[in-house]
Amino acid sequence: MGVYNRAPLEVERGRGARLWSTDGTEYLDCVAGISTNGLGHAHPDLVQAVKDQAEKLWHVSNIFRIPGQEALADALTASSFADVVFFTNSGTEAVECALKTARKYHVANGQPERIDIYGFDGSFHGRTYGAINAAANPSYTEGFGPPMQGFHQLKWGDKDALKAAFENPTTAAIILEPVQGEGGCRETPVEDLRWMRQMADDNGVLLIFDEVQCGMGRTGKLWAHEWAGMAPDIMAVAKALGGGFPVGACLATAEAAKGMTVGVHGSTFGGNPLAMAVGLKALSLIDSPETLGNVNEIAGYLKQQLAGLQERYPDVIVDVRGKGLLIGVKLVPNNREFMALARDTQKLLVAGGGDNCVRLLPPLNLTLEEAREAIDKFEGACKAARDAVSA
Ligand SMILES: *Cc1c(COP(=O)(O)O)cnc(C)c1O
Repeated sequence: MGVYNRAPLEVERGRGARLWSTDGTEYLDCVAGISTNGLGHAHPDLVQAVKDQAEKLWHVSNIFRIPGQEALADALTASSFADVVFFTNSGTEAVECALKTARKYHVANGQPERIDIYGFDGSFHGRTYGAINAAANPSYTEGFGPPMQGFHQLKWGDKDALKAAFENPTTAAIILEPVQGEGGCRETPVEDLRWMRQMADDNGVLLIFDEVQCGMGRTGKLWAHEWAGMAPDIMAVAKALGGGFPVGACLATAEAAKGMTVGVHGSTFGGNPLAMAVGLKALSLIDSPETLGNVNEIAGYLKQQLAGLQERYPDVIVDVRGKGLLIGVKLVPNNREFMALARDTQKLLVAGGGDNCVRLLPPLNLTLEEAREAIDKFEGACKAARDAVSA
C-alpha cells in the first residue's frame, strides 16, 4: 500500500552506525530505524543471540511456559518499577495492552464508569485504533470512522486542563511520552512529571507512560522517567528493546494489572522465544554503565556542537532540544528538504519530526569520532541549505 513517502535510497546492509545502499554508497545513520537499532546495525552479540536461538526454537504458543520470556520479564521488572510484563510484537500493541490494563483496573476496583483516557497533542502512540485515539492527532484519525468513546486530547503544557482531567470522576488514565518523539522531541519538565504522580495518586487515576521511543537508554537513563525520580503505573516499551528485532512489552505494577486475569488478553507471537533471546541480550547491553555513560557523553558533545551551529547558522537552525540521544533540531528551511540535502550532499541520515524538526537518533554506542563526523556533515547540510536559499 502506498502509505509511505519513501526516500530514494535502497538499503542493503549495515554495521554499527553505517548503512550501505545497493549501489555501494556509505551513509552515517543517525536514524537507527527511528530509535530502534539502539546498538547499531548487526551488533555481533545480537546476531549471535538470534543465530543460537534460531537453531533451538522459534515459536511455541503462550499456552506453554517459555523460559526466555520469564528471563526477560525478570530482567525488565528488576530494572524498573514494574512487577509484571506482557510481551507484544510492536509499540502500538504495547500501548493497546496499556490502555486495556488501565480500564480493566477500574473495573476490578468496582469503578467501571472510569473509562476516560487523556492524551496530549503532538504525541504518538502507534497506528492501531486505540493508539490513534489516545494520541488523537487528526492526520492519523481522520477517515477512520467515529472517534472511540472515552478518549480525549489535552493541550501539551495546559496544566489547568490536566488538573481537571485528573479530578474528573470518570477518568481511567493519563497517557504521555515523557519526551515526545514524533512530536519534535518535546520534554515534559521533571517537576510536572512529579506533580502528575501526586495528582494521579490523590485522584485514583493511573499514569501510563509511552516510552517506546524515549525508553531503553535513549535519554541516558534506562527509562526516561527516572530523571524525575518517579514512576508510572503502566509503561509501553518497544523499539530498541529488540535492537531491531520486533518486540514490545507492556510493564505494570501488580496493582495496576490486577484486572488482567486469565483469558482477558493474549497474543500469538508476543513473547516468542526468538524475540525474547534477542531482547534479553539487547537489554543487558543497553542497561549497563558503559552504554548509558556513552549516551550522556555523546549527547553532551552533540548538544554543545549543535548549539554552536545554531549560532553560526541562525538562518537555518531555530532551536536544539530533546534529551540524551533523542535530539530535535528545529529548522527554518523545510525539514523534509533538509533531510534530502543531508542525505544527498553529506551522506548523513537524519529523521523527520513534528514542529519542522529533524531528529538525530543515532545508536546509543555511537563513538566520539562518529559524533564528530555527524556534526561535520550536519554543518555541511546547513551550508547546503543556506546555498539553496541564496541560489
Ligand atoms: C514508534 C512508536 C510507537 C509505535 O510503535 P510501533 O512498533 O510502530 O507500533 C508508539 N509510541 C511511540 C512513542 C513511538 O515512538
